[in-house]
Amino acid sequence: MLNTTEFRKLAHRVVDWIADYLENVEHYPVKSPAKPREIFKSLPDEMPANGEDFTNIWNDFHQIILTGITHWQSPNFFAYFPANSSYESVLAEMLTAALGVQCMIWETSPAAAELEEKMMNWLKKACGLPETWSGVIQDTASSATLCALLSAREKLSHFQINEKGFEGFTNLRVYASIQTHSSIEKDVKIAGIGKENLVQVPCDEEFTIRTDLLEKFIEADLQEGKKPLCIVATLGTTSSTAFDDLEKLAQIAEKYGVWLHVDAAYAGTAFLLPEYRHYLKGIEKADSYVFNPHKWMFVNFDCSAYFVKEKQWLIRTFEISPEYLKTANDSLVNNYRDWGVPLGRRFRALKLWFVMRSWGLRGLQKRLREHIQLAQELARKISAHPDFEIMAPTNLNLICFRYKPASITDKTLLNTLNEQLLHTLNNTGKVYLSQTKLNEEYTLRMVVAQTYVLQKHVWRAWELIQEIAKNLQLRYLE
Ligand SMILES: *Cc1c(COP(=O)(O)O)cnc(C)c1O
Repeated sequence: MLNTTEFRKLAHRVVDWIADYLENVEHYPVKSPAKPREIFKSLPDEMPANGEDFTNIWNDFHQIILTGITHWQSPNFFAYFPANSSYESVLAEMLTAALGVQCMIWETSPAAAELEEKMMNWLKKACGLPETWSGVIQDTASSATLCALLSAREKLSHFQINEKGFEGFTNLRVYASIQTHSSIEKDVKIAGIGKENLVQVPCDEEFTIRTDLLEKFIEADLQEGKKPLCIVATLGTTSSTAFDDLEKLAQIAEKYGVWLHVDAAYAGTAFLLPEYRHYLKGIEKADSYVFNPHKWMFVNFDCSAYFVKEKQWLIRTFEISPEYLKTANDSLVNNYRDWGVPLGRRFRALKLWFVMRSWGLRGLQKRLREHIQLAQELARKISAHPDFEIMAPTNLNLICFRYKPASITDKTLLNTLNEQLLHTLNNTGKVYLSQTKLNEEYTLRMVVAQTYVLQKHVWRAWELIQEIAKNLQLRYLE
């Protein structure tokens, strides 16, 4: 066990290591080369009976753990969506760990509750969300969407499902596009609505929801006595950052009196930029909205911002008031235990505060615009190359593309070729991209959004992509 003196000494060493790590992170193989079970097997089967020297632990962190780490903070990380960090965010997380507070209710740390309320207001204003909404930090967008479905469910049933279960309330229907995130299906299952009651509406050629079909599906459900509960709009789909027509969805939600939830998990950060707010048209008619500062806003995982139009539906769905949690101030303050699933809560507002103050709105906007511009430039290059093809509109900074040399036309072969291209690229350790399928066609996804990414990283990646694709094609032609 460490004492204060040892802690002080080691903490300085650890911080030095963190600074060196972040400075050199681009030289690590981006995707961990670890084989399945390799790390597990190199760890002892039992905890040590006697405390070990910290030097041993520190050595094992380097020798065992780091080899099994995928370096999300590398500027060569272009996969999935990012989970960005920043120096400010890391400092705040160190302090959060040191304070070690549990923020279930106002009284268990008033500053945490009040800073959270203020930070949600800052975000709401900075992103152009309606002034009268209320916000709360959730761990992830998956949890926030679950809160939305449960609130919608309780509003529709006048809290009868919470009271008595589902009797009289079967066949609740939830609508989202076929491009919706997998968490929607997971949440529909957890909320007791049943996977078969998630209606996945086909998309148009730009991968946005067909609102004409949505309306037909709702009409058909009403005819059959089913109960339309909620429409989930996606602003920035995971596959290709497609934006559903929110204004039209808001009209449909209003017409049929159903809850409108907006999933902007990744792209929501773009609304810090006024030039992208046209996608938010109709937002004032939505009931709930989520985006993840832990993806693209330089606030490290986890931190998901959930906003609701009327907080009463959220709070009445989740509130509990056992004697041991009652306090004298309950009517004056926010007790966030009633704003989501867990009772215990981390102090997440601190990192938002550090990042928003140190970067400022202009600093954030500048970085986001740089990311978008880099991606747009690369998209133009890819599109101009005769052997490559852009697979979906590059609305922000995610480029969906594939290799398609004129010599290869077979659909299956193209899929195999692109799958091999991705694996070969990632196995170099020099870049990390991920994939999706669009219209059954294997598509590479390259997201230019990492905190530390610069033009040189993007160009180097593009050189490598062309080189490896060319070599693969030669092999195919042999
Ligand atoms: C990433 C993502 C999610 C899930 O986010 P978590 O916070 O990991 O639950 C949901 N929806 C969309 C559109 C996403 O991009």
